[in-house]
Formats: sequence, C-alpha cells, structure tokens
Amino acid sequence: MHVSIAGGFPKALERARALECTTFQIFSHSPRSWQLAGIPEEEARLFRAGREKLALDPVFIHACYLLNLSSANTALREKSVWMLKEELNRADTIGADYVVVHSGRPVSDGKLVPGREEDSARLLFIESVRSVLGRGKKRFKAGLLLENTAAAPAPQMPPASIEALSRTALEAGTAGICFDTCHGFASGYDIASMEGMKLLALQAQDVQVRLIHMNDSRGRLGSGMDRHEHLGKGGIGLEGFRNFLAFGPPFGGVPVIMETPKKKEEDDPMNMRTARELLRGKRQVQEKPSGS
Ligand SMILES: [Zn+2]
Ligand SMILES: [Zn+2]
Repeated sequence: MHVSIAGGFPKALERARALECTTFQIFSHSPRSWQLAGIPEEEARLFRAGREKLALDPVFIHACYLLNLSSANTALREKSVWMLKEELNRADTIGADYVVVHSGRPVSDGKLVPGREEDSARLLFIESVRSVLGRGKKRFKAGLLLENTAAAPAPQMPPASIEALSRTALEAGTAGICFDTCHGFASGYDIASMEGMKLLALQAQDVQVRLIHMNDSRGRLGSGMDRHEHLGKGGIGLEGFRNFLAFGPPFGGVPVIMETPKKKEEDDPMNMRTARELLRGKRQVQEKPSGS
C-alpha cells in the first residue's frame, strides 16, 4: 500500500504494519512541491532499523509529481534532474530500495521536431536519467524504476506504450519498470483479457518488471484517463485482476502496491482485503497439479 509519512518517516512503518503490508511505498516529501527538508539522521536510523525488524521489503519511494525529465524546457529539465538526484539520495538515506518516476510529457516550446515529439521527449528523458545515474560506478544504492503513464493509445493502432517504456528503461540504464494497471488499462491494454495480457507480456519481455501498482481504473479501456479506483469497482474489475494475476511472467512474483483512493479510514483496509483475496485465489490456481 502507498502510505503517508505524516509525522515522520517511522510513522509510515506503523501505518504499513497496521495494514499488514509486507512491502510499501511513500513519498519522500510533499509530491507537489519543489521544497525539500533534510532528513534528520536519527529519523533515518529509526526507519532503517524499523523496516528491518518488521521485515518490510522492498520499500519504494514515489518521486515528486513535478518532475519532467523529458521537458524541452531546459530550466525545468535541469530542476527535474536535481530533484531526481535528491530523491535517490533520500532513498539511500532511509535505506529504501527503489525510486519510481514517471516518464513525463514533452512541453511544447517550439524546440521539439514537429511530428517527432515522442522521439525527442524520449531522447531527452534518456539523457536526463543517464546524467543522474552516471556511467560505470553505481552512484546510488537505490534502483530507479520507470512507471507507465495513462496516455491514450494512437487512433487505430494497438497500444505500444510499454514497448517504448521498456526500451527507454533499458537505454537509460534503470533497474526496470513499474507497471501501473490503471495507467496500462487507460492506455489501451486490456489486462482483463488473455489477448491483452499476451500483448503486454510480449512488449515487456526484455525488461525487469520490479513493481506492480495495482489500481482499478475509473476510466474505460483506452480512455487515457489517470483516475484510480478501488479494486474491483472500476473498468478492470475483479475478474480482470484475476486474469492479470494468473498470467505469470514477467508479472508473476512481483511486489504489488495499491494507490487506491483514500477518502475514508476504511478504504485502505478494504482494498488490502480485496488484494489478499485476489492473490490467494491466484495461488490456489497455481497450486493445482497440472494435468491431473
Ligand atoms: Zn506513479
Ligand atoms: Zn502508479
């Protein structure tokens, strides 16, 4: 589950434990602000010791929403590069394993090649990430993961965003990708069907899928709408998630985290219960001896 760090980083551990999580995600600061406060060493130490004790593993940080590593606006891109380095430094300080970042959108300021916006943005993104991660010696302990976005598919074309994301993740030298089910569904992958899953698995076959953001989608298939919904209450539905989870590689055995709406106190426990039932159901399917 994605949990809040309100009251300090160690509070996130308490929240994850109360929900009986084995893995969780946090923001390392307010995700809609460029402002960063330092992390006191004692707080970082408590967090590192606590997650060890509670066997919460792996721990993910979701990077700031303001980042745009593919912007043609140089000032914004440089600021984003600075912030991504900070996010990775903060991950190392508290001992988090991965930082998740979106690939961002090109900002139209006349510098992009008309009709090739996608390509220009991709190249800028790769350049930005490479400048953060460096070459050769590993600068950060934490790995960087690229998350798919909810961009609508091109008209009359099969969805291709995961193929592009995988290529970008490999070329930029990241640790792999995070697949968000809501974003995937909104960008045209029908994960509720076998055909949709086959296409998705084919396009992600060369990359490491290290995290699944399991969110239902308020928008319909291919809507391009990034609106998360409670598990089973959106366009993917319980049957859709069962199909997704039963598929296996490259998605089988990957940590699952929900970023479902939190309007009421009861929302997180409810989605945790649903997720557990879905994952238990999947295990039963797998444990059946084959052919007898
Ligand atoms: Zn995200
Ligand atoms: Zn997500």
